[in-house]
Amino acid sequence: MERTLGIIKPEIVERALVGKIISRVEESGLKIVAMKMVRLTKRQAEEFYHVHRGKFFFDELTTYMSGGPVVVMVLEGEEAISRWRALMGATDPARAQEGTIRKDFGTDIQRNAVHGSDSPESAAFEIGFFFSGLELHA
Ligand code: UDP
Ligand code: MG
Repeated sequence: MERTLGIIKPEIVERALVGKIISRVEESGLKIVAMKMVRLTKRQAEEFYHVHRGKFFFDELTTYMSGGPVVVMVLEGEEAISRWRALMGATDPARAQEGTIRKDFGTDIQRNAVHGSDSPESAAFEIGFFFSGLELHA
């Protein structure tokens, strides 16, 4: 069993598409073991995305991610990290495969609907960033 962190990004909350994303998760068989809506400060977004500090998109990305509430969730299952990334699709919605969340709901490479951890190490950091052990419902 593996756990990963998913984020439903601000434009999806704004466009009232949260339920559609959650349906995709549930239909996939991944189990939602934690979920909440939060609004990050700019500083918190910078901490969450610290691995991207210094990249050309870092400032815009963290401004965007702190610009409105997001829904954060912990997903559990066999190979949860790669399964969630496969459901999400490629970073750029224009390049994402048919049927993926980013293809169907993404606006552009920044506003690409969802986030997913990319390794066990990032999942551990990202889950701990948002949730305490008490909030994880195994
Ligand atoms: N991003 C962006 N421009 C880029 C690359 C990435 O705005 O050229 C944003 C996008 O929102 C992406 C996030 O930065 O989801 C993190 O980038 P990463 O390369 O980790 O992509 P992901 O893991 O989300 O597919
Ligand atoms: Mg990433």
